[in-house]
Parts: sequence; C-alpha cells; structure tokens
Amino acid sequence: MTPLPLPSEPPPLFQDLLVEPEEARSILRPQKDERYGFGFALSPYRGCGHGCRYCYVREYPNALHGPGDWGGWVAPKVNAPELLWSQRHKLHQARVFMASATDPYQPLERRYRLSRRCLEVLLLCPTTEVIVHTRSPLVLQDLELLRDFGERLSVGLSIPTDDDTVRQIVEPHAPAIPSRWAAVERLAAAGIRVSIGVAPLMAVHDARVFARRARTSGASNAWVGGLRLLKQDPFYKVLADHGWLKVLAPEYKEGIRAAFLEVFPPPKHKREARVEPVTAPPGPMASQPGLFDRVG
Ligand code: SF4
Repeated sequence: MTPLPLPSEPPPLFQDLLVEPEEARSILRPQKDERYGFGFALSPYRGCGHGCRYCYVREYPNALHGPGDWGGWVAPKVNAPELLWSQRHKLHQARVFMASATDPYQPLERRYRLSRRCLEVLLLCPTTEVIVHTRSPLVLQDLELLRDFGERLSVGLSIPTDDDTVRQIVEPHAPAIPSRWAAVERLAAAGIRVSIGVAPLMAVHDARVFARRARTSGASNAWVGGLRLLKQDPFYKVLADHGWLKVLAPEYKEGIRAAFLEVFPPPKHKREARVEPVTAPPGPMASQPGLFDRVG
C-alpha cells in the first residue's frame, strides 16, 4: 500500500483544543467479551474533542496522560492508517468497531481524516465487518465511502436524549440533537444501515415521541444503554443539580426501553430472549463500573 500523505504540522490549537499528534504503537484493540461480538476496537485518536461530561473514557488510565482536562486535548494517531494496513492479516472475517474510546468524527477529523483513511484500508479487507459509532453528522462527509462497504458496514449514532437543552448541559461540545437526526436520515436514505444508541441514557422529555422519531428517521435498529456512575464521580452532582438522578434508576431505563421496543420490536426468534443489539459499544475497561449497561 502506498503510504498516504500526512497532514502538515498542525498548529498547537484547533478550535481551542490542544492537539498533540503521536505515532501509535498499536491500533487494533482486541475485544474479548463475546457478548459484544466485536473482533477489534479501532480508535484513530486518543482523547476526544467532544468532551462529554459523563464520558467513561476520561477514567481510563491512558486518558489521564493527556495534558489537560478531558475534552481539552486530543492526540491524533497520525500513523493509524499505515499501522492498520500492516495488521490487515488480523482482520479476516473480523468485526471492527470504530471507535470505543474516542469519537471518530469529532471536529479534528475535518483536518486529519484519520477515520476516513482507516475506512479506506478496511474497504480493502473484503471479509471485515465495520461498525462506525459517532455523535456527529460529520460522518456524512464520508457518505460515499461508507456506502461502498454495502451490507458489511453499519453506522451507529448516539442520541442519549430527545431534548437538546439536556444535551447542551451534558455534551456541550457535541453536535446538536437535530443535526444527528438529520444525519440518520441522510445515511438511511443513502441505503446505509443505521442504529440509534440512546446511550448513555439521559433525561428524556417524551419517550414515545422519541422512539417514534427514531423510527421515522429511517434507522433500522435502536437500543437503550443506561448510565452507571460512582457517587464520587463529578457527573453525579451534575445530575443531582438538574434533578436528573432518575436516569440512574432501573425503572426509568426500563420505561424508555419499553417505548423503543414498541416501535422497534425484536425479531420473532429473539422475543423470548434478552435483546442483544449488535451495535452497542464495548464496556469500559477498568476503574469505573460499566457506563453502558446494555438493555437492548
Ligand atoms: S463522544 Fe464518546 S468518546 Fe467522545 S467524549 Fe463523548 S462519550 Fe466520550
């Protein structure tokens, strides 16, 4: 494979973000948990410019090596596509989830195109299934490329609430909810399979309307993932201050889940079993209880 040109040296700041390009030593993180069904997680960036206030990744050990607060710095793995190409032998009949520890379509992707270039590599691996998971309509800049994968690629959009005023508090630097719906609609209209992750579940204004919106957006699948939080986590106070501690209650999650199951009934053969959505992200690694508690 001909090495792709790297972008010229970036300025240290990108939209108030401290950018520290790095050469990664590895790019495919094996996913050992069979329940998730992923072969590998692939993160073209370390750190995430969306900086969601509840993000479990901020507790990961390597996230702590960043030079500032979570969301204030990002290390683009500038050799990610070449590294991936060199490890393509691992990808035969594997499933790749992009990305579990960053958003592949965070704003910096406009400049670095690392997610795109990794996808270009994956396109050349014909037996590899790919799941792209994001909060950003920036994914649309690669619409044609995503379509080229056909049935072996799906896109997941995280839409944790139907209320953009909630989003402005919990994910102030992530794209607005209406823009995510628009992205789902464009992807689905282009024939790309789209899944909506109501995760981690935040305060919802009207669960039934929310679920119907998901259905009419063209998404083929939706799942609800609860938030689990230690009391000492600073985000606990954010929830408490806004009267949103209910999102931690199993009954609340079950109510939202039921509304979604009404409009996204599981396939007949799965009705007796617990629904296991195929696009739920893997859980966190270590120091915090699981953020994404999969409920289908
Ligand atoms: S977009 Fe995902 S990885 Fe990025 S801060 Fe938000 S939850 Fe974390």
